[in-house]
Amino acid sequence: MSKNKSSESVKVVVRCRPLNRREESNGPAGGIIQMDLRLGQVILRNPRAPASEPQKTFTFDAVYDANSKQRDLYDESVRPLIDSVLAGFNGTIFAYGQTGTGKTYTMQGAWLDPEKRGVIPNAFDHIFTHISRSQSDRQYLVRASYLEIYLEEVRDLLDPNHGSARALELRESPDSGVYVRDLTSCVCKSIKEIEEVMNVGNQARAVGATDMNEHSSRSHALFLITVECSQPGPDGRKHIRVGRLNLVDLAGSERQAKTGVQGERLKEAAKINLSLSALGNVISALADGRSGHVPYRDSKLTRLLQDSLGGNAKTVMVATLGPSSLHYDETLTTLRYANRAKNIQNQPRVNEDPKDALLREFQMEIARLRAQLNHRKWRSKQKKEGLVDEEGWERDEEEDTDGEDEGVEVEKEAEEYVKLEEQRLEREKDAIREDQFMLAEEKQRLLGEKERMMGDLRKEQEATEQLTAKYKAMESKLLVGGKNITDHTNEQQKMLEMKRQEIAEQSRSEREIQQQVLAQDEETLELRETFTSLQQEVEAKTKKLKKYLKLYAKLQCIKAEIQDVNDEHVRSRQELEQTQNELTRELKFKYLIIENFIPPEEKNKIMNRLTFDTEEDQWKFQPLVPAESKSSQMKKRPASAVGYKRPISQYARVAIAMGANSRYRAENIMFLELDMTPPNTASLDRSTEAEPNQSHSVDSSPTKDRGVRKSRSWCQTPKSLTSSSSNVSLSACHTATPMAAQ
Ligand code: ADP
Ligand code: MG
Repeated sequence: MSKNKSSESVKVVVRCRPLNRREESNGPAGGIIQMDLRLGQVILRNPRAPASEPQKTFTFDAVYDANSKQRDLYDESVRPLIDSVLAGFNGTIFAYGQTGTGKTYTMQGAWLDPEKRGVIPNAFDHIFTHISRSQSDRQYLVRASYLEIYLEEVRDLLDPNHGSARALELRESPDSGVYVRDLTSCVCKSIKEIEEVMNVGNQARAVGATDMNEHSSRSHALFLITVECSQPGPDGRKHIRVGRLNLVDLAGSERQAKTGVQGERLKEAAKINLSLSALGNVISALADGRSGHVPYRDSKLTRLLQDSLGGNAKTVMVATLGPSSLHYDETLTTLRYANRAKNIQNQPRVNEDPKDALLREFQMEIARLRAQLNHRKWRSKQKKEGLVDEEGWERDEEEDTDGEDEGVEVEKEAEEYVKLEEQRLEREKDAIREDQFMLAEEKQRLLGEKERMMGDLRKEQEATEQLTAKYKAMESKLLVGGKNITDHTNEQQKMLEMKRQEIAEQSRSEREIQQQVLAQDEETLELRETFTSLQQEVEAKTKKLKKYLKLYAKLQCIKAEIQDVNDEHVRSRQELEQTQNELTRELKFKYLIIENFIPPEEKNKIMNRLTFDTEEDQWKFQPLVPAESKSSQMKKRPASAVGYKRPISQYARVAIAMGANSRYRAENIMFLELDMTPPNTASLDRSTEAEPNQSHSVDSSPTKDRGVRKSRSWCQTPKSLTSSSSNVSLSACHTATPMAAQ
């Protein structure tokens, strides 16, 4: 699956924008940046430091000053990367820098002005021109997606319900690395189509934001292009290479103010800083090379850029700077950041025949549709031949054409066949109508049959048309080398581009050589130490002294640098501590609410249901009832009351089983309340006789007494009465049923 497994470092280029009108009005002291384009160096002056303090110098792969053209940056630093993507490598370009320094200008630029078109539109041009110029045995499939990360949530900018849709999740697969699940991906067949995709995304981004500048400076925008290319290999089989290109416009690198903000704003600031500081930590860990752990999982951004930083990708970082002295600290931080990123080593490789290549699926689907069409073609041909033979017409021999004209040809043939068939059926219908000897009924039947046959014919034609349309739609999605794209540039332009590329290549290698010469200069000085005279010795020693002086100056620079870095660490630690304090305060506030306003058992219930989802990096509630056993569990009743609404005693169960009206059966309270006492006169009459031995009389004439006693509710009667009434009921049961005797 992989080849060309060499490692290469992240290319870092720096671009400085011109002074804007406001900065210009601040006077000539405005600019703090000087650039040596030949050496690829940025020299930074500290406006607050005394003039004697040495300036800071940083060296990069290339630097672009205020006069640089969009085209220069593209040809020199981006074009080789896009070429690699077209060859099947993963590629990433990200713009990093303070808000207002030209990240969006570099990535997108002004679309309508050809001079000011940024990296993204130039890359679109490049990709589709390359396809149009490639050999015709190659097939391409180009797809585009557009997403943004805002407050640590990934949002699909091409989803029509962008505003209301749920944040997307990140997943990892061995084939394509970290990817976004359910992300919309649009197949693009031309520059116009892919530009349309970009526009749709940009509009979605602007709609969601109340203040676009504010929003874009706080969110990261990622435009992803996947180019799949199928080409016959030496083994005769088609091989697919997949290049993925990430074009990233990061949020402003400036620290979000955390002082004085609370609640949502504090969380927001913490989250925006989180992904950028996570990016910084990842870069530091990779540049350092010693620490085994790289904290990719700390933020969504670093997870998505995992392959681009230290993985399977070629990466270009464009660090953008503002020349104003007001932002010296931020500019210095950006330069340090960029300087560190230079040391990251990637291991890019060609992605060959990955399992998830969409092009393969498309090719298979097209082959299936073509087979279906061929089958229809064969069938219609058969029928046509039969028809022609039948009619005694001349049969015209036709050659088989294959490939992309298949659909058109089959459609033509089908049409021709349908026309002939219809004509034949019409003729037959006429013949039937004119037949004098046929019965009217028979005529009707035959005409109906012919009508049905014509209906079938039309249905079949419709099916063929649908199939052909599907086939054409599928096939049009694939771009074939040397075709499909109408805006061919002529040979002259091609030559011009090649020349431009050569010049860019030349200036790049020149710069590299200059940098090497500079480094070697200092070393070679020592080798020329053989001197013949005192004069020479003096000269040599003076030179040496100068060299030591130079080294001393360098040492001072490095010391100052160390001091700066320490200061910055102290500053960021203080900020972190401050954030921690604020968050702790909020936490304590929440604890206070929980302790005082939420009953402990409720709290425990909630706590027991909480689980931490490592994939999404947040706490989640477990469902109250496990999903799979939901229905069965809801039906179950406690064992103590199977089949009844409330618990019931053993005695009452026995009584019910015997059919008696039990005093202790379930729900008997209501029953008793409603069982009204018989008229008083009856009991008065009997009370005088039964008085002396009441218990006995109850025992001996249970059936008579039962009605009176039973009418008393257990809750109204005194204790003694309750026990006797229970006796009554018991004896009543004994006497009422023969089973009681047992
Ligand atoms: P960011 O995206 O970093 O916040 P922008 O790209 O929006 O910054 O740039 C801010 C302003 O500066 C814009 O008006 C843009 O046109 C201008 N600008 C940035 N870089 C350049 C440049 N290299 N040349 C001319 N104008 C630039
Ligand atoms: Mg911007």
